Amino acid sequence: MNTILIKNITLIDGSQKDILISNGKFDRIAANIADKAEITIDGKDKTIIPAFYNAHTHAAMALLRSYSEGKSLQSWLNEVWKKEATLTNEDIFNGSRLAILEMIRSGTVFFADMYWKHKSVIAAVKDMGVRANVGITFMDTLDSKTCEENMEFIKSFANDDKMISLSVSPHAIYTCSERMYEKCYEIAHSNGLNLHTHLCETQKEVADCISKYGISPVELLDKLGVLDKHTIAAHCVHITPSNADILATREVNVVHNPCSNMKLASGVFPYRLCKTAGINIALGTDGAASNNSLSMLQEMKFASLLAKVSTDNPTSLPAQEVFQWATTNSATAFGLKAGVIAEGYDADCLLVDMNHVSLVPNNDIVSSLVYAADNECINTVICNGKVLMQNRIIEKEEEIIAKAKKFIK
Ligand SMILES: [Zn+2]
Repeated sequence: MNTILIKNITLIDGSQKDILISNGKFDRIAANIADKAEITIDGKDKTIIPAFYNAHTHAAMALLRSYSEGKSLQSWLNEVWKKEATLTNEDIFNGSRLAILEMIRSGTVFFADMYWKHKSVIAAVKDMGVRANVGITFMDTLDSKTCEENMEFIKSFANDDKMISLSVSPHAIYTCSERMYEKCYEIAHSNGLNLHTHLCETQKEVADCISKYGISPVELLDKLGVLDKHTIAAHCVHITPSNADILATREVNVVHNPCSNMKLASGVFPYRLCKTAGINIALGTDGAASNNSLSMLQEMKFASLLAKVSTDNPTSLPAQEVFQWATTNSATAFGLKAGVIAEGYDADCLLVDMNHVSLVPNNDIVSSLVYAADNECINTVICNGKVLMQNRIIEKEEEIIAKAKKFIK
């Protein structure tokens, strides 16, 4: 039995408790827990917060950080796709580990991935001890043999320890036909998996769709019957009020990726529209090649500031709300009972160093986390009741960085 006892830790509400973690769950949260545990952590001067769940990324693209800069989405993609064609299984494994290392150091314990060579991504996730929803990516250009192999992999995948789930990921409407979306939905639906896709990322995507199909991308996917509560739609920057109503009615989870949208000048996420429609909004970083960071702390800050400046309203997207996007909302989108510090929930949490300069003085912990926190304030990361980082030390760090650096040479 794996047990951790955290003594005298401060909760977000300011109260001080002991927390007993056993078998991957928060077992008990109370004053003075006297049980013995395998690991005891002193919580003095630390606050416990839920870990972050990155709802849309392309992990192995960490290898392409700062690779092709200053481009629009389409010309950036053309450059990146050429480079990606040269990546080996080993590159994807090393790139994914590099990304996960960065994620752990910035407090993220789950990521929803969309990439190629999913077996290498899965191997990296297992090696690092985090959770992931691994997308099996489809495009029309995929040869039929790989398509068949992907379908077979999905059918035979055994979700042994519940740390890794799969999603079926048709890349986008400009790379996948109607038939491809229908096929992807069919296999997702029959295997109880999410369907994860890019949607309405740029104005060009919407204009091309209207000229080809006579309807918007959201209307197209709705017509194909692929939108439901298991759909994860990344971006949704260029949507109309009636599109937002469709997404809300179908209970689609929308993932906002503010840094990537700003860097590629894709546009401004319609915060007010999505919120008013009642859509579950989650937060993601997108890949490190278009961000160029995987820090959810940074992503929360940009999301909140962008919502304020784009609505000309300083009350838009308060810290508490964007913090919920990065934790509970993202976890909910992927069916995890996680994202809060409460008995019975998955024991995924961060111990934050309240003596770190970026958090002093502690007038409001959530505001400080969203607007001020530096990654370095995250002292300890626990995922599924296991310590992944303590006192900012991750055992494999040197080796992971050395292997990733080799890729550039
Ligand atoms: Zn993306």
